[in-house]
Amino acid sequence: MTKMQVNMKEKLYEGKAKIVYLTDDPDVVIQHFKDSATAFDGKKKGEIKGKGTVNARVSSTFFKLLEEAGLKTHYRGLLSNRDMLIDRLDMVALEAVVRNIAAGSLAKRLGYKEGKVLRKPIVEFYYKNDSLGDPMLAHSHIMELGVVDEDTLIAMEKISIKANEVLRSFLAEKGLELIDAKFEFGFKGGQIVLGDEISSDTCRFWDKETGERLDKDRFRRDMGRVEEAYQEILKRVTSDQ
Ligand code: C5P
Repeated sequence: MTKMQVNMKEKLYEGKAKIVYLTDDPDVVIQHFKDSATAFDGKKKGEIKGKGTVNARVSSTFFKLLEEAGLKTHYRGLLSNRDMLIDRLDMVALEAVVRNIAAGSLAKRLGYKEGKVLRKPIVEFYYKNDSLGDPMLAHSHIMELGVVDEDTLIAMEKISIKANEVLRSFLAEKGLELIDAKFEFGFKGGQIVLGDEISSDTCRFWDKETGERLDKDRFRRDMGRVEEAYQEILKRVTSDQ
């Protein structure tokens, strides 16, 4: 945890799983991780006890790892077990999903069985737009919409692939398979950096030995042992720390 003295000021934004608070410094905000969980565009709602603390710790570990690998992120430090100090970003309205193994919407789209290893990682972009239902966009759609310029899009794709490689090999050492991961980006002083969170809410993690799912699919699909799965990820990810 950082020793920095930071004042939590008014709420800037409240989402489904996190709240962002302003601080005295206009360039820095606090990302507070909640236990509430939603799925299927908010149609399914629930609470996963302890999720906020797990996701804050897991995200913190991943952001530090990515920074060590030379990638730029918004991460500054943990203030408490649910509060992360981050750079305030001008967020890009895109989600990048990197997939190593078919699951979820990709398995449906391509008619693959979940668990099929992909020839090479696939990167997809989704438009963060509730009224359109967050559609998947091709590069040319992104250019047409003018969400970001071409150089930024290429940079986001490269960063996503590198982040996937770094996380995938780290997780492999913990006996975990990184099936897919979702990344979000924003601008900090003209530079594109990784933002949001990286956790069991935003990635799929399967046990390498048993294939057991240790991520939000347990909540989405009513598989039971949801809290236990989140705690197991925290335990594995923070082992040897
Ligand atoms: O549902 P789908 O298979 O497209 O999800 C791919 C990955 O992106 C999963 O790890 C899922 O948790 C993540 N995701 C996310 N936020 C969304 C959509 C997907 O974190 N809005």
